[in-house]
Amino acid sequence: MNVIEVKNLFKIFGEHPNRAFPLLEQGKSKAEILEKTGNTVAINNANFFVKKQEVFVIMGLSGSGKSTVIRCLNRLIEPTRGEVLIDEFDIVKMSREDILQTRRKKMSMVFQHFALLPQRTILGNAEYGLEISGVEEEERRQKAMEALDQVGLQGYEHQFPSELSGGMQQRVGLARALANDPEVLLMDEAFSALDPLIRNQMQDELLELQARMNKTIVFITHDLDEALKLGDRICIMKDGAVVQTGTPEEILTEPADDYVKAFVQNVDRTKVITASSIMRKATMVTLPKDGPNVAIRRMEQAGISAIYAIDSERYFKGIIRIDDAVKLSRSKTDDLSSITFDGVYTTTPDTPIGNLLGWAIESSYPMAVQDETGKLLGIVDRSAIMAEVNNNFDEEDMPVTLKEWEANGSELTEQEG
Ligand code: ADP
Repeated sequence: MNVIEVKNLFKIFGEHPNRAFPLLEQGKSKAEILEKTGNTVAINNANFFVKKQEVFVIMGLSGSGKSTVIRCLNRLIEPTRGEVLIDEFDIVKMSREDILQTRRKKMSMVFQHFALLPQRTILGNAEYGLEISGVEEEERRQKAMEALDQVGLQGYEHQFPSELSGGMQQRVGLARALANDPEVLLMDEAFSALDPLIRNQMQDELLELQARMNKTIVFITHDLDEALKLGDRICIMKDGAVVQTGTPEEILTEPADDYVKAFVQNVDRTKVITASSIMRKATMVTLPKDGPNVAIRRMEQAGISAIYAIDSERYFKGIIRIDDAVKLSRSKTDDLSSITFDGVYTTTPDTPIGNLLGWAIESSYPMAVQDETGKLLGIVDRSAIMAEVNNNFDEEDMPVTLKEWEANGSELTEQEG
């Protein structure tokens, strides 16, 4: 289910926004339109949706329109054209009263520079939103305390913002946003003002909090690593337009254009690309149905020297090596399980390939990818892992062990199609 749907959204800043539309239709650029009409195209026909309980990251360079978009979601900025559906109601068409209700009950915002009230205590800040919504003192105290608890600030209620570090101040910002238990959290570069270590820690905490709370989060950042870490899906903006929306893996593996490519160039792909995306089908035999002659024939056909054995329910049993199968066949017995070799590394589909490197180097056979119950999903070749690692390193930077490993290759991986 989609909590937010943005349809054909435009925001033109300037005195005569409508003058920009004919030029946009002619395909004129943001810069040309500014020069010709004095108007700034901040959002240019944006379309996207945000699913319930996902972290949706909007990413782009400074000036690409991110802040304007997030402010159109709660109508802190008035869209020029288009629809913004919140739980299927168009906020663009709402009365002022309904917008206020939506902001108070459904959506909360966390800002880059915390926006705390300096004369108020931490508790006073956390309960501020509830206070202006007219919630009774006792109830709002209790909710604000719970929210402070959630972000790890118990014991700090009576201090003032200036007595807290940046990271802690932003926790107060987060507690204030959580106090009214909103369905949607809008986070505008919420961690960008923090130094890198604290920022990393806050990202981890947000993910932990999200695992418990399951909010729908729209998170804005200009930082790709942050986007990849936090986002279930990422929307990339350029000059007010959405250039690509996808999962972190999709953004990395299928960048829509050179702009996205430039963004993702320096990312450590091995942390993001998972086994599932480089996995391929295994050539298999089924135990106890298949005997050594079936195994030998399949290996010959595929040009491989070992084959993956599963049982009738697809549980992974090990591999059958061709020499063993030939011996078994000559001995006139046909129980493949007696020669099933269990010395094959296994992994899960969501394991980042960076974690597989060590095992892959040691193993002579492609790794078996199993689901959580142990069923065989596919296999991962070291050459496929290598290809991704190569995308990451320059030749000279590559660790020596990897170079050797790559040079040695693997008979299994090269031949099988
Ligand atoms: P981002 O958040 O990605 O840095 P913004 O949404 O702040 O981008 O800005 C998008 C474009 O709109 C920029 O060109 C910016 O200069 C312009 N802009 C933003 N706010 C205003 C405003 N109030 N008046 C005029 N232009 C604005």
